[in-house]
Amino acid sequence: MNIERKALWAVRQSALPMVVRPCPDCPGTRHRPSGRFRVNANGKLLDVWLLLHCAGCGRTSKVPVHERAHVSSLDPARLVAYESNDLAAVRELAMSASLAAKNEYRLDRAGAWELKSDTPQPDLDDPRPLAVQVRFELPAPVRVERLLMVGLGLSRTAIRRLVADARIQLPLAPRARTRRDFELTVTGTVPPAPLPLHRPKVVIVGVHRVASPTR
Ligand SMILES: [Zn+2]
Repeated sequence: MNIERKALWAVRQSALPMVVRPCPDCPGTRHRPSGRFRVNANGKLLDVWLLLHCAGCGRTSKVPVHERAHVSSLDPARLVAYESNDLAAVRELAMSASLAAKNEYRLDRAGAWELKSDTPQPDLDDPRPLAVQVRFELPAPVRVERLLMVGLGLSRTAIRRLVADARIQLPLAPRARTRRDFELTVTGTVPPAPLPLHRPKVVIVGVHRVASPTR
């Protein structure tokens, strides 16, 4: 296929994921990192927590990062990062799948990524095929059809129809989640074939005339 149109879509992190776990004070389950740690020292033993705010009621809650850790077991630079609410350390832990697993909560990254394209949103009426390189700069998987919805500015139903019609060709199922780079091809609207000048005759077969009874 002769590809004349090309685009590069970069999937990037735009915000920290939400921490999903029950809030004791409200029916909400979504929490945002507050951007702060709490460090408690008891002699040579340290407790370090990542602080969260409930998106529903604002309640502050804590996620244990280190519990009763001997001060000598922590990297001094790391300790300074906790004590100074270092943003990079907050980001790293707020995104950490292993911290989430250890503390039995889920990370919701639905609104935490954005798609940057090097071209304007493609014109789907342009019949020339468009090759799109999708490049991940995000450490988490994204649902393929969600990417296509954002990149092409279409509804889920429209995306599924285009995939079913093979106008979008891609190496993954639309419902799959991926974090690996891939390439897809979008074929614009094929101009409709000219209408035939004469409508085909309607031929009805198998209908027999039933003689009406003589009165
Ligand atoms: Zn709450």
